[in-house]
Amino acid sequence: MKTVKNYIDGSSICYSKNFLDINDPSKGEKIGNVVLSSTEDFERTLNSSKKAFLAWSEFTPLKRSRIISKYKEILEKNIETLATIVSEEHGKTLEDAKGSVIRGMEVVEFATGIPHLLKGEFSQNVGTNIDSWSIRQPLGITAGITPFNFPAMVPMWMYPISIACGNSFILKPSEKDPSCSIKLAELFSEAGLPDGVFNVINGDKDIVNMILDESSISSVSFVGSTPIAKYVYEKSALNGKRVQALGGAKNHLVVMPDANLDQAVDGIIGAAYGSAGERCMAVSVAVAVGEIADSLVDKISNKAQTLKVAPWTDSSSEMGPVISKEHKEKILNYIDTGEKEGAHLLLDGRNIKIQGYENGYFIGPTLFDNVNNQMKIYKEEIFGPVLSVVRAKSYDEALKLVNDHEFGNGTSIYTSDGEISRHFTTNSKIGMVGVNVPIPVPMAFHSFGGWKNSLFGDHAMHGMEGVHFYTKLKTITSRWPKSINSGPEFKMPTN
Ligand code: NAD
Repeated sequence: MKTVKNYIDGSSICYSKNFLDINDPSKGEKIGNVVLSSTEDFERTLNSSKKAFLAWSEFTPLKRSRIISKYKEILEKNIETLATIVSEEHGKTLEDAKGSVIRGMEVVEFATGIPHLLKGEFSQNVGTNIDSWSIRQPLGITAGITPFNFPAMVPMWMYPISIACGNSFILKPSEKDPSCSIKLAELFSEAGLPDGVFNVINGDKDIVNMILDESSISSVSFVGSTPIAKYVYEKSALNGKRVQALGGAKNHLVVMPDANLDQAVDGIIGAAYGSAGERCMAVSVAVAVGEIADSLVDKISNKAQTLKVAPWTDSSSEMGPVISKEHKEKILNYIDTGEKEGAHLLLDGRNIKIQGYENGYFIGPTLFDNVNNQMKIYKEEIFGPVLSVVRAKSYDEALKLVNDHEFGNGTSIYTSDGEISRHFTTNSKIGMVGVNVPIPVPMAFHSFGGWKNSLFGDHAMHGMEGVHFYTKLKTITSRWPKSINSGPEFKMPTN
């Protein structure tokens, strides 16, 4: 039985004597403990991060970049190990876990370009013999708080860029699958990162509150559910911190009558049921426009029935369990509610049993047809393998559904009409939009972030948004005068 501690100043250590269980979602059995850190753990982490920042911020960007390049090489050798840790504690399939590790590593790769990314702007002669230029300087101690569903990728949206910018970083991972963060930090040390630049502190909301209340922490990056994102945003802002807080989602995929039906069905199946629907970019609503609806629903239903639901240790598994017993019960309640609300339950995943894994948190692919925008299963994020089909009469009705929803993370349209596609990408009030792709997750050199109740703050994550979030802009105006001093000026200088 493993015990997951903290990673402070290059060592695995903890002072608290309180622990939480870590469970294997496939078996529903305890596989370890994670520390619920105390004030002492937090103080030690903070001291380490403060000291490390002073030295690390003096490293030239090129030296930082070389350590990050080495880290990338080490990560490449450890993809399988990291993915296995993810699957063991999260339950997702090994291939899916590997994909998420690789998407995280792409941010590390992006961060190796930091000498270029930090270049400022320069203007000669903004006034006679006066030059002006801008630089971006690190913030200091930065912090990240992350959810259970991507224990490698989501932390990697944050810390590689923050550290590349010259900050130290404190990560508070999800208490449900904390081991991957410790491994990511150990591998960074192996690459030559000085101790204390990347610390990991485990725990639950008490540690989050210590982070939010600590005046020497300059910024908070959060990813998780919307109520907590809003709380983190408000409290951090009140305490004068820079904050980006990404929340929940209800992503719509619109299928137009002229869409390639088979492509749309494949896209929906993967995006709705992959990772048991526990992705913030999962498709949870398919909007069938016009006459395509009957054939779309038939095909989704036929295909979803054939999905192999099994633990990650079975290499043919296409969908694993959900994260916990409590989360499974919450999803089952949503399915009950959907039935009561009058939606047509075409596939019911409530009673799935997998031999040898009877206590696992499995739910089979679930499909509702004829869902409408007044139903709870439409309005709320379910975060499980439950797909709702809404039938819309026209493109305008479909777009209105997308835009009226409180969440604005991702959306996609399947169509062969360029004009419709252009109208949709321009007019949908959503942060990440796809055309004939089901999950439009931006690459590391672009930025990830939703609109409306899916993101609180001004910056999305990674890409140039990440570099800007983790640095302060300074603009310098300079003159080296040999000329005669003309005396004080009392008006705004102009050219
Ligand atoms: P969560 O909000 O329960 O937890 C996220 C983090 O907040 C964890 O580290 C947790 O320990 C901490 N936390 C939980 N309750 C808290 C409280 N009361 N006070 C302070 N901190 C608290 O989210 P989760 O269940 O781990 O993850 C699933 C959610 O994350 C879904 O809503 C999903 O949509 C969202 N998510 C969003 C994105 C995105 O990019 N927008 C990406 C991944 C996941």
